[in-house]
Amino acid sequence: MSWDIIGHQWAVDMLRRDLAADRVRHAYLFTGAAGVGKRTLAAQFARALLCPHADPPCGQCRHCLLTARGSHPDLFTLTPIKKTRHAFISVDAMREAIGALQFKPMEARRRVALVLNAHAANSMAQNAFLKTLEEPPGQTVILLTAERADDLLPTIVSRCAVMALRPLPHAQVRAALIERWLAPAERADLLAHLAQGRLGYAVALHGDDEALPARAQRLDDLQALLAGSRVARFSYAEKLAKEGKDGPERIQGVLDLWLGFWRDVLLATAGAAGPRANPDRAAEVERVAQALTPAAAHAVLAGLRRTSALLEKNTNARLALEVCLLDWPRV
Ligand SMILES: [Zn+2]
Repeated sequence: MSWDIIGHQWAVDMLRRDLAADRVRHAYLFTGAAGVGKRTLAAQFARALLCPHADPPCGQCRHCLLTARGSHPDLFTLTPIKKTRHAFISVDAMREAIGALQFKPMEARRRVALVLNAHAANSMAQNAFLKTLEEPPGQTVILLTAERADDLLPTIVSRCAVMALRPLPHAQVRAALIERWLAPAERADLLAHLAQGRLGYAVALHGDDEALPARAQRLDDLQALLAGSRVARFSYAEKLAKEGKDGPERIQGVLDLWLGFWRDVLLATAGAAGPRANPDRAAEVERVAQALTPAAAHAVLAGLRRTSALLEKNTNARLALEVCLLDWPRV
């Protein structure tokens, strides 16, 4: 019997070896792009740590049922809370988690703390957690997830067994979408392309009826902006900045999508083969590439990245977007 995890076989094997040999470490850090499967794998490991039956976790005992409901007394999950513009883990929430870990397990053999998107904890909160990682209370296992190990304090990373999850092969994501999520083949193919190996991301897109139409609209917007006047670009920047007031991640989502399109353009200007992020937009990519040099496409990409970085720092979104869009060539 194996775990109910698609892909990341090496990581599953390693965790199961630790369990089988009773050599479970005090802390594990799962890294990888958003939607690649960090939380799914960490949660499965947590189930295996708490179920008293032999690995794999049975799924039927009291521990497994409580874990599935999110109410196991020995599983403490810390998730970033969105209060203002960004989701974050506060020092207080971190202290509460640390406090909870000081007690002996109530029912299971161990206590497990699952800290999701630990990079959302600022350095003060991370520092508060460091002491717990340095001297973990007995029988406690700490599971952290983060997109990049670099986003955490090096002192935190060095105390964890790091499981760096890589994107899955396209064919594996496509097959999983068809077999397990019953997606029609053509949709599965497109979603697998868009997700670039991130199965969780592909599944989220599949389950969101508005995601694909919204993506299509943003790519149409990009075409209109390329042909559009300065006035049209100014007004789009204003509109997008306004949308970002509800959630800055919406602007980042648009920038990421456009980055994917422009990477495809850059590849096309250079005559390079290789997988494209937007295979369904090949004709538009080709048309834009015909009109530009690789250097011009590269400049647009650099501008988008710069804008994305500026928005991370709470810059005036409208101004940053204006500068970005006005720099685009007219095609
Ligand atoms: Zn069980």
